[in-house]
Amino acid sequence: MYSIYLRENKLKYELNELIKMFLKPSEYRLVEEKEAFEAQIILPEELTEKNAAKRFLFDQLSQLTGKKPDWGTLTGVRPVKLAMEYFRKGQDAAQVADILKKEYYLSDEKIRLLTELCLLQREILKDCRPDDVGVYAGIPFCPTRCVYCSFTSNQVSYDKIGPYLKALYKEIAFTGQHLKALGRRAESIYIGGGTPTTLSPGDLHALISNIKNAFDMSGVKEFTVEAGRPDTITEDKLLVIRESGAGRISINPQSMKQKTLDLIGRSHTPQQIKEAFRKAKAARIPIINADLIAGLPEESPADFADTLSQIIALAPENVTVHTLAVKRASKLIEYDSDYHYRQGETVREMLSMAAELLSQAGYRPYYLYRQKHMSGNFENVGYAKPGTESIYNIRIMEEDQTIVAMGAGGISKVYYPQENRLERIPNVSNYEIYIERINEMIERKKKGLE
Ligand code: SF4
Repeated sequence: MYSIYLRENKLKYELNELIKMFLKPSEYRLVEEKEAFEAQIILPEELTEKNAAKRFLFDQLSQLTGKKPDWGTLTGVRPVKLAMEYFRKGQDAAQVADILKKEYYLSDEKIRLLTELCLLQREILKDCRPDDVGVYAGIPFCPTRCVYCSFTSNQVSYDKIGPYLKALYKEIAFTGQHLKALGRRAESIYIGGGTPTTLSPGDLHALISNIKNAFDMSGVKEFTVEAGRPDTITEDKLLVIRESGAGRISINPQSMKQKTLDLIGRSHTPQQIKEAFRKAKAARIPIINADLIAGLPEESPADFADTLSQIIALAPENVTVHTLAVKRASKLIEYDSDYHYRQGETVREMLSMAAELLSQAGYRPYYLYRQKHMSGNFENVGYAKPGTESIYNIRIMEEDQTIVAMGAGGISKVYYPQENRLERIPNVSNYEIYIERINEMIERKKKGLE
């Protein structure tokens, strides 16, 4: 057990996050001044500047453990945003790379990835208007609950969904009209969840129509419906999606190994995943994304390689490779709280395999984010065939646009460009309370979106 003395430092929380990248919570303790004499690491009093304090800790912890995390001293979830800020200040790629190395200790591989992503994202967003907003509507229902799930996901009989949709339509109608009155257009529409394709074809049609009727759609660049679970995807629903003009869906296999799908609580087979792709291609959905997860329970790099090659053979336009994050709200953490610490090397192998195989198949990385409690402290990376990248995914990570989120658990973010600041407007996450308090959710938006 290591003892670490951080003093009464206002950076204590962030410094502790950095320590967790090297040590499990059971391997260290933060001590008070009276026990500082026995500490292996003592933060010098003069180190009050955040990056300097983090670099000191990083060096000390590296010496102690022999580890050198690839993301250096970065503990935040948006490394691209950080790098982009240096580009905005007028630095070129070589200068940004130098800062990332010297100030933040990033590995050469992560520096290359970040600088490439910044340049690509600039190119993709060059025609976007600063005032246009992202629009999100959430369907918080899924057929079963995955073991790693920390989202708003409910398993209910279909008769419970009607009252939810009624409340959601009310919020959509208000928000759309309110934004129209403010002269704001929608730039992207994203129907997410949960699993939106748990809805019947009729309800899916009604949901999409409500959105199209409420918002100014004249500037919409993309429209996504997250189909999610392969076992909820039918020809009728795909037809509704395509006919409504939505050009993108996401089918989320996570793994192509039956044993893994059973272990993580999915109620479908690899064959159903292939079927869902076949149906989506037959319905001529222009862009299909496939979500995969590296580091799932009991999976080896060989299992992950097999999943990757099967997915590449199904030819989605986008592939998003997530690293398993074991969050507090998930069932997995109850079974195994140290899971993500032990998975580091396996996940590293899986992620570099993904980068290699996807690049050979013509995909390139275009967005990236991190989460807390990720296996090995790695990242999620979105890959796309050139020209099929999702603007919504980039914008939500960049945090430089207003995004209105409707439905239970939706958190709208209002962007104030002058101050480069976001203001959050949260909805309640319980869907029954959301129905009960829908007028209050609307009132919050009315105040926050002035
Ligand atoms: S499909 Fe997504 S939202 Fe639904 S239970 Fe699984 S992880 Fe949660």
